[in-house]
Amino acid sequence: MTNYDDIENLARKGAHNIVDLCRAEYADLLARKGAQSSLSFPDTVYELPCHYALTPDSIKTLGDAHALELAPDADLAQMGQAVLLSAELILALKSSSGDPVAHIPDKVIRELGYKLVDGTIPGILLLLGSADDPKALVALARDAQSRGLLTFLSGPLIAQLEAEGVALGLETMLVPLHPTLLGAALAGSVAIRAGLIFGGIGRGERGSMIHYLAERLPAVAIHLGDVNETTAAVAAAAWLLAIPIVSDRQLGDIEFKLHSLQPGENPITIACEMRGIKARIEKVDIPIPFGSAFEGERVRKPDLAIEIGNNITPSFELLTMAPLSDVEDGKITVHGADIDTLTEGGTTPLGIVIRVGGRKMQEDFATVIERRLHDWFNRAMGVMHVGQRDVNWIRISKGAKQAGFVLRHLGVIAHACIHADFGAIVDRVQVDIYTAEADVLREREKAREFYRARDARLAGLTDEAAEMFYSCLLCQSFAPNHVCIVTPERTGLCGSVSWLDARASHELAPLGACTPVLRGTVLDEQKGDFSGVNDYVRKASHGALEGCTLYSLLDRPMTSCGCFEIAMVLVPEANGVLVIGRDDVVDTPLGMGFTTLAGTIGGGAQVPGFMGIAKRYIISRKFLRAEGGIARLVWLSSALKEALRSELERRAEEQGLAGFVDKIATENEATDLDSLQAWLEKVGHPALRMDALI
Ligand code: SF4
Ligand code: ZN
Repeated sequence: MTNYDDIENLARKGAHNIVDLCRAEYADLLARKGAQSSLSFPDTVYELPCHYALTPDSIKTLGDAHALELAPDADLAQMGQAVLLSAELILALKSSSGDPVAHIPDKVIRELGYKLVDGTIPGILLLLGSADDPKALVALARDAQSRGLLTFLSGPLIAQLEAEGVALGLETMLVPLHPTLLGAALAGSVAIRAGLIFGGIGRGERGSMIHYLAERLPAVAIHLGDVNETTAAVAAAAWLLAIPIVSDRQLGDIEFKLHSLQPGENPITIACEMRGIKARIEKVDIPIPFGSAFEGERVRKPDLAIEIGNNITPSFELLTMAPLSDVEDGKITVHGADIDTLTEGGTTPLGIVIRVGGRKMQEDFATVIERRLHDWFNRAMGVMHVGQRDVNWIRISKGAKQAGFVLRHLGVIAHACIHADFGAIVDRVQVDIYTAEADVLREREKAREFYRARDARLAGLTDEAAEMFYSCLLCQSFAPNHVCIVTPERTGLCGSVSWLDARASHELAPLGACTPVLRGTVLDEQKGDFSGVNDYVRKASHGALEGCTLYSLLDRPMTSCGCFEIAMVLVPEANGVLVIGRDDVVDTPLGMGFTTLAGTIGGGAQVPGFMGIAKRYIISRKFLRAEGGIARLVWLSSALKEALRSELERRAEEQGLAGFVDKIATENEATDLDSLQAWLEKVGHPALRMDALI
């Protein structure tokens, strides 16, 4: 089978089979449960997402799905659509009848968004079929992990990987979907929701969605094993979503759609090339696999070889700037015993002191680089790093230790990654690792001096004192008109780009995503309305926006892409705002949780009364300054309240709002608007005495 017509014929048969299967399963469930029975996937506001995006129908019940018209006989694109929709419907029927289905929640897609835009995840790989050689399959999966690809698995190869002992799940970026190829529809659902969440594409906007996926989503598939009609049908669905396929069988090539692997070709390299995915292989000389796919992995108690920090042993990490001449590049010294001499299940004190020098290095960048140690250490398979500074916590697994991993390798990782990611500003990196308790305690005191000095400097960084702000346009790769303006007192809404980060990023790549933005004329101090910012935003949003204010929710607020940490919403009935975080599982008094609220906005839209923000912005002095500041906060989740309590209290005190934090309602005090109003009146919340918001 080498030509298009053959594939089309095969796909047609496969499409018929899948559509027939769908109709049969549908009729069966309808007969058992009735038309009113609900039909949905968990944790999404987009109903059945592929249907939501590609058809005008709203499907919430079994009865709604009845209207579905599937056309497996038309051209390849329509066949592909019929396959995608039927497969999604089959999985939704399973999910609604209580069978667990590996549906990826909206919240996870939002989290992945930032990693996709900053390149941590360079692309999405769909790995399908069944491998001839399980060992080669494992090597392929490890290759995908080491390049940081987010890999979705569908078909018998899931069981093959499990049998080989490969850990699967979102934490390892090898995400099993379904033992049959139908699972590919769940990956299609992720791709489509990227367009709905970040691209601002609405219900039924099929043309825009297909265009968006073709332009913006770096996704590719690899199929292993023999090809049959189901494979061809799934291929048609993948092509509809602009996902090309690499096959290990000789099927010929179709430009932008299909490539048959030739002897000696690396499947992942070829797949990445087909879709222009620039995956970076990190070369770090340590005895265990290393790659961003391992970042989310935890080391649990039974697998634990060595534990460090977390109040069990003294521990800290510090990165400072030093004169070039004082730094010997690549020198890593372990002062004291390394862990190869420790018994398994042991603990050790640990101090990591890194000194970097470089002609373009600045003191402020030390904290930016130091914070990245967390990501880098986590990339080593079997190493878990939590926290930072002198409250870090490191676990090393038995597997890693047995493979020969020692603390010295933390230095190797830091050295390699600093050069790779900050090569434009750092020329030399030297690492000292301390493990004797007395040394760690002594060095920790010195480190604390640095932390204190940095905190004082950060506290003094205000918007007024900053010469310039920075933009971040990273998310434009998914939300084409979205513009973040990042200031010392307002971190980018994803929470990952502070003003210092943006400054370092500009220094690293002057033509990259972060550009200095001059204030220009101050048009309104309270609102943070600056002519320079407006001019910049107009241009950077390609004319979609007239500008934006920095401190107002109601007057031209900053846009929201899709990866915001917190959703902030106006509650006119309470004369204030509520905030809820991406990790919160509770509902707001508006009757909606984060996912539902967040689903009403995105794609770089400017919506007065709604804003996606970073967690840190809640405790900024510039928070909602135009509308009266923190006193407008009438509701937040109890989890957020506790996490931010001490800083909220400090801010409230500054503003003369004694006892204010306890007046903010949470889900424990208010679950709807009536109980919210009653609570606010009972405690005498200041928002009730402020000017009407609208
Ligand atoms: Fe995206 Fe804004 Fe974060 Fe940049 S700062 S990555 S544009 S959300
Ligand atoms: Zn974003």
